[in-house]
Amino acid sequence: MSLISCANCGEDENLDGDRDGDIIEITCQKCGLVWERDLTPTCETCGTTDVRPAFQAIVDKSRGTQLSIQSMRLVHLCPNCQPDLLADYLASKSPLPPDELPFDPD
Ligand SMILES: [Zn+2]
Ligand SMILES: [Zn+2]
Repeated sequence: MSLISCANCGEDENLDGDRDGDIIEITCQKCGLVWERDLTPTCETCGTTDVRPAFQAIVDKSRGTQLSIQSMRLVHLCPNCQPDLLADYLASKSPLPPDELPFDPD
């Protein structure tokens, strides 16, 4: 068993594990980062394991009209399938936007 530690802040004690099938989802109690503790990260599309870690914002869905970043999730971007997204992420040095915005634009 390898030691688990938070990719964002390095915390290795105050971590919460939540099992969901084969996947264990870890939440860092210190900075709020969420990630899946699983096998080697793999691209679901092309199957490469040459993926790059990235942080994705998790926003609050319940508060007014202002979106606020609640915490972050560790995801992986594929250089083959998501080159633009990966390039944008590396250039912006800020978390990826969430997959789905909780509010409709209108
Ligand atoms: Zn952390
Ligand atoms: Zn891929």
